[in-house]
Amino acid sequence: MTGMVRPVRKIVIVGGGTAGWLTAGIIAAKHRSRMSAGFSVTVVESPTTPIIGVGEGTWPTLRGTLARIGVSETEFLRSCDVAFKQGARFARWTTGTEDDAYYHPLMVPQAFSQINLVPHWLAKNNGRSFCDSVCPQGRVCDDGLAPKTITTAEFDAVANYAYHLDAVKFAAFLREHCCEKLGVQHVLADVRCTNLREDGDISSVDTEQAGDIEGDLFIDCTGFKALLIGDALGVPFKECGDVLFCDTALAAQLPYPNQMHPIASMTIATAQSSGWIWDIGLPTRRGIGYVFSKRHISEDKAERELRAYLGPNGRNLSVRKINIRSGHRETFWKRNCVAVGLAAGFLEPLEASAIVLIELSAKLIAQQMPVCREVMDIVAARFNAATLYRWGRIIDFLKLHYVLTKRRDTAFWRDNVLPETIPVRLQELLLLWRHQPPWFHDEFDRVEEVFPAASYQYVLYGMGFRTAIEPAALAGDAKAAERAMRETVVHSERLCAGLPRHRDLIRRISEQGLQPV
Ligand SMILES: Cc1cc2nc3c(=O)[nH]c(=O)nc-3n(C[C@H](O)[C@H](O)[C@H](O)COP(=O)(O)OP(=O)(O)OC[C@H]3O[C@@H](n4cnc5c(N)ncnc54)[C@H](O)[C@@H]3O)c2cc1C
Repeated sequence: MTGMVRPVRKIVIVGGGTAGWLTAGIIAAKHRSRMSAGFSVTVVESPTTPIIGVGEGTWPTLRGTLARIGVSETEFLRSCDVAFKQGARFARWTTGTEDDAYYHPLMVPQAFSQINLVPHWLAKNNGRSFCDSVCPQGRVCDDGLAPKTITTAEFDAVANYAYHLDAVKFAAFLREHCCEKLGVQHVLADVRCTNLREDGDISSVDTEQAGDIEGDLFIDCTGFKALLIGDALGVPFKECGDVLFCDTALAAQLPYPNQMHPIASMTIATAQSSGWIWDIGLPTRRGIGYVFSKRHISEDKAERELRAYLGPNGRNLSVRKINIRSGHRETFWKRNCVAVGLAAGFLEPLEASAIVLIELSAKLIAQQMPVCREVMDIVAARFNAATLYRWGRIIDFLKLHYVLTKRRDTAFWRDNVLPETIPVRLQELLLLWRHQPPWFHDEFDRVEEVFPAASYQYVLYGMGFRTAIEPAALAGDAKAAERAMRETVVHSERLCAGLPRHRDLIRRISEQGLQPV
């Protein structure tokens, strides 16, 4: 082949929220060595449009991401008001009663790669919940303990963990790290319009304060505005409000009654009449918000439910309303533009799937960075296939939390179990799981899964799903299963005896830091 190739060297990221800065950091860290040869990463960020400022729950992948881009965990924990997250506790999702709750922890079930404990637990569990039978982390959370100790090195875990963080502080922290340590260029300017070449590629973004900014690859991180992928390139948005009904959030920040108050080390998601309330404990405050369906409840009533949850200390708190559009772009990478973060789409934050999707998308872009424009469409097609698959799987997984409910007390819960609102793939999986429980090899091996089979197990059996088990099928590994469940009990005792209280660990880290890796 002959002819001029168009090298891809100038990466322009528009938007400086969590998506923009994480993407910048991941790409810059991976391509550091090329920077002297003209490779550059520029973040163009509006000085007037604030970032969304919510998005406090993360996934354990963030530990690896931060380590890879060279962040010190101690600095991160100190700068972004970070607490540890060990999973989610779902309250009132199954029956709606006071004592209705289950855990989706971040540790996989005991001996997960050797044995599927589900059938054994179904056959015999002495009334112990699925989570408590196979994993110590529910108890660790109940006891208010941290997932590591002060002598555990940075990013290492005793019990698997992610973070709860302040989104505004996180973006500022990443900005400083990217600009000072990774050579990312930062332009504070408002994009007014996008200029296209004759062939339809983006040639530059025109900004109010810094003129035209040219690039070879543009990454749209402009949040819900989707200025490049939506406005300039016209990629349609695929709604999924017919599956996931929540379309509005009311968010508040609740102070602790005192500075010694325990910090929960799991997200608490409490089902309400027409949605659910998230409750995320940071060291200095709690972030609490009601995600609901406007079709099923008025905003006034929703605010009353939120205020009832906040209690007397929240009486005078201001509540911020955020409109949510559930769904994603039909395609994520078109021509020389790829969307990451809210510009790519959004699904209700029930399982904190947004930031992990940003990490996975940015990692894929960085790993497969096309060397020249001539190969970009091939990379784009791969990226689109993997990303579309991931969005679909996340929609299925989020809907799973709703379809297993036995609640029929409001139209919201009744509508959620209507078959026409359940994606076909999820219906098929539910049928399959009636006869055989999910396990790690099932079909979750296409791409790096956001929610692996262990997650499905915790939600299914936490919500009382039943799989028919043939007694004969248990015989082969009954002894190994019994041993694994006994080991869970021992493991629980050991962790509960050895781990510090969550708040105490955070205080000690702020005073003396963790050992760097
Ligand atoms: C209610 C709610 C709760 C959430 N909870 C979670 C959670 O627990 N876990 C999770 O993983 N995710 C959560 N999310 C999602 C998460 O907040 C986002 O995925 C994440 O913050 C990334 O946002 P972003 O960077 O794409 O967009 P934004 O933060 O909106 O950033 C957009 C950027 O684009 C810039 N911009 C806009 N217009 C222009 C312009 N004309 N010129 C230049 N720059 C421009 C802005 O200045 C800003 O810097 C939640 C979202 C909502 C709505």
